[in-house]
Amino acid sequence: MRTLFLASLAGSLLLASCATPHDATSVASLPASALKSARCASNLLAVDTDFPAGALASCTVSDGTNIAITIAPEDEPPINPSPWYAFRVTPAAPTEMKLSLSYTEHGHRYWPKISYDGVTWTYLDQGQVKVSELAGSKMARIALESDGRPFFISAQEIVVPATYDKWLGKLERHADASRSVLGQSAEGRDIPLLTIADPFSQQRESIVLVGRQHPPEVSGALAMFPFVEELLADNDLARRFRARFQTVVVPMLNPDGVVRGHWRHATGGVDLNRDWGKFCQPETRLMGDMIAAIEADPARNLTFFLDFHSTQKDVVYTLSKDIETDPPGFTDAWLADYQARVPNYEVVEEPGYSAGRGVSKNWIYDEYGVPTATFELGDETDRELVKTLGTAAARAMMKTLLETESE
Ligand SMILES: [Zn+2]
Repeated sequence: MRTLFLASLAGSLLLASCATPHDATSVASLPASALKSARCASNLLAVDTDFPAGALASCTVSDGTNIAITIAPEDEPPINPSPWYAFRVTPAAPTEMKLSLSYTEHGHRYWPKISYDGVTWTYLDQGQVKVSELAGSKMARIALESDGRPFFISAQEIVVPATYDKWLGKLERHADASRSVLGQSAEGRDIPLLTIADPFSQQRESIVLVGRQHPPEVSGALAMFPFVEELLADNDLARRFRARFQTVVVPMLNPDGVVRGHWRHATGGVDLNRDWGKFCQPETRLMGDMIAAIEADPARNLTFFLDFHSTQKDVVYTLSKDIETDPPGFTDAWLADYQARVPNYEVVEEPGYSAGRGVSKNWIYDEYGVPTATFELGDETDRELVKTLGTAAARAMMKTLLETESE
């Protein structure tokens, strides 16, 4: 029965693609993979998650084109309310369809985005998505008109190891950038690392940047890209910065969680950003060892640590104002300069400190006494603005650090 249905769907997919009858490989490849790994299907469409970051708990199709998707976290609650989902729909032909997204925990949060190539993303229109409350939990209903092409629906843009690989491949061509790996994740994936410094100078001061401790926090990654690119800019500020400072960039600390489409954790069932100091997880342990090696190196000296994340709004979590750091006063000066560069935008700072929770920002301050911050972007902050903010924050950081006294 199943074989028959698959054959008929494959047949209609080929018919639907008659515009390019000679391009047999590209026509056949996508439908075959979608069918082979379908999580649910009808004779009119198939839904799969067989790509990095693809994730849903279960799905069913009724009446040919009504897709009901259930989304659940990777581990038993309590878990942070970051209900990630990403799936691909392969229609057999142009058709109208309805999708529902229901959640076992916390309810709907991320506005659905659509892509045909997994690279260029568009927000679904207000009119296409209805968010409603069902038994105390938010769910979403989506109405779509498919033109027959397969498409992805995802909680956020899909930014996965291949995305970082491509990005780093571009950056590593710069004479002041060198690419390596921090080490391997629990599942053996490379954790990429980029070091930025003028190779002809003797840097003593090190900046450490980290991203993607939390897999769904893509807007933080979208700010980190322009931030890091700005450090490699061909201008006087960036050149002077690279001559004096070394920046160590770990843009994706949790590749396992990213690839698996986790809400929060790596594969150890633990929030990595509650593991600093304990270092029970291989990913955080690698960071701890790397930073310890910077401090142990007489030629280097940790100066500033910044951790990129996403939450409901744009906010910079800093250390409490009564905390003295070395260098002193950096954070206030950095954020003032950052604010001055984005005059029509309000930089929101929330100072705080809690010892013993395993949060990177607090643990690194405790251990090394340097200024630290968590740079959070809102889930749905306008993507052009995210770019502007990443660039402005990087320029402000470089200028402020260059104005600090060198020992
Ligand atoms: Zn986070």
